[in-house]
Amino acid sequence: MSLLLISSTRFADHQTPPGHPERPERAEVMDVIADRWRQQGGEVAAPGSATLEQLARVHDREYLRRISETAGRVVTLDPDTYTSPESYEIALIAAGAAIDAVEAVMRGSHGVSLAMVRPPGHHAERGRAMGFCLLNNVAVAAAHARTIGAHRVAIVDYDVHHGNGTQHVFESNPNVLYASTHQFPFYPGTGAADEIGIGSGGGFTVNLPMERGAVSEDYQLVFTEVLLPVVRQFRPDLIVVSAGFDAHERDPLANMRLTAEAFAAMTMELRAVAAECCSGRMALVTEGGYDLHALAASLGAVVETLAGSIGPARWPKSDVASSRGRASATATKRALQPFWKF
Ligand SMILES: [Zn+2]
Repeated sequence: MSLLLISSTRFADHQTPPGHPERPERAEVMDVIADRWRQQGGEVAAPGSATLEQLARVHDREYLRRISETAGRVVTLDPDTYTSPESYEIALIAAGAAIDAVEAVMRGSHGVSLAMVRPPGHHAERGRAMGFCLLNNVAVAAAHARTIGAHRVAIVDYDVHHGNGTQHVFESNPNVLYASTHQFPFYPGTGAADEIGIGSGGGFTVNLPMERGAVSEDYQLVFTEVLLPVVRQFRPDLIVVSAGFDAHERDPLANMRLTAEAFAAMTMELRAVAAECCSGRMALVTEGGYDLHALAASLGAVVETLAGSIGPARWPKSDVASSRGRASATATKRALQPFWKF
């Protein structure tokens, strides 16, 4: 089978204070998904650790030094971001898993890969831990992919939060497209439609901010009218997905109304674009997703989508009338009109 899952039992060792949403039980859900895949005859690889050189492509050396000093200690890095004594080591493994995910598809050993990691990464800035994130796993992976033959990398982030860290790392870079759907206004506050990149990176940041309460049809509309056309025109050599599942209707942190089937549909749409643009090369890396039942169902649906053959995306019907997608698509198209055809 051409899907590679990457998973480590060590991810449970990143401990957060009791009641914190980024709880160790998230790792257990990932273990269950990995076991099920093994039982179906699928391949599950244990990740290596990212090296300082790999991390320094997107993080400041001074920050890497400071974060390494949290090893063996409990440290509060920002109001929601903590380390346990093992967290530094686990964060290196999470970034390493993201690197292994792009290695597998860039080297051609697998068609598609999914790294199930924690802590998440997309809020981590070049020089700052933030929003449960220590190292920016997806940014590290995209930067690594650029050194092993991917000239253009598209990052698609369907986590319910805007990936401020990923955007900031690449906002001046025309070779890395960052496209995000997210609840807005919401944490972390960035991700407005008119944030489109800086300098020669202009047009290569695509933000689809949506009002709370968005449903499957809203996501389908912004994918179909904005996100997918831009990724197609960009013609990436690799698609990297920040696969967060906190836009699920059960998620305790956010207010969107997606179901597991909607995550499967988004994943299928991206698979189809990857097949068209880059021989199907796509690496997914988990981000948020704080309801354990929703996380299990969504991850399961995504694995099934990645393991099966490519077909039409089956967007679920929500039976809710919502125009949140229309408002978002209109604003983003207006901002990006000079750069892309819609
Ligand atoms: Zn999130």
